Amino acid sequence: MKKISIAIDGFSSCGKSTMAKELARAISYIYVDTGAMYRVVTLAALRAGVMVDGEIDEEKLRECVNNLNINLDADAKVYLNGEDVESEIRGLEVSNWVSKVSAIGFVREKLLDIQRELGASKGVVMDGRDIGSVVLPDAELKIFVTADADVRAKRRYDELLRKGATATYQEVLDNIKMRDYNDLNRKVSPLVQSPDALLLDNSYMSIEEQNAWLLDKVNKVCNQL
Ligand code: C5P
Repeated sequence: MKKISIAIDGFSSCGKSTMAKELARAISYIYVDTGAMYRVVTLAALRAGVMVDGEIDEEKLRECVNNLNINLDADAKVYLNGEDVESEIRGLEVSNWVSKVSAIGFVREKLLDIQRELGASKGVVMDGRDIGSVVLPDAELKIFVTADADVRAKRRYDELLRKGATATYQEVLDNIKMRDYNDLNRKVSPLVQSPDALLLDNSYMSIEEQNAWLLDKVNKVCNQL
């Protein structure tokens, strides 16, 4: 069957990464987590002392981004200069800074090139905020995912607890609302539902229902090719 590109965009903590990864596995496509890439840049910036007095030093950030190496393994895990930083990039410190770092034009330009290259050969499921609108505007299937902020915060909070993190529910909810606001209102590539994207509100959907919904959409698009 002919392979397509699948763009999955939407709000923070909607379970996009889990659904995109599962879908890619089910249909033997490559999975690309673009949020993880922005998180890796943010972690590198924090380590390089780019954030001073609650502000980003853009010159230092530019230098940091120029010297940065982002690699992906076959499992779509993202590495910082070869180092496995998976658990560190999911923590609250990175979460608190990532939407500010990702709003900066030269950061997006650097990652856009990598993302377009990864999507060039089709057979890819890519998730993020601007995949359908900017990174892969010609994707044959575009999904825009949303869920109630409280439902998202509860899911994220439970996940952090399972991993032994110490955040409070309120901190997680505040972080989600802050990221929603920043992602929706930034000047470069804001979070937006493309007119040709299908809306998926998974607030009250089980994982099984969601997987079935997604596979149905993929089959419909592929059968029309
Ligand atoms: O998907 P995840 O929540 O891990 O993404 C982390 C942050 O990276 C988002 O809050 C958003 O600010 C940014 N991001 C982005 N564009 C993407 C993917 C993520 O701006 N394509």
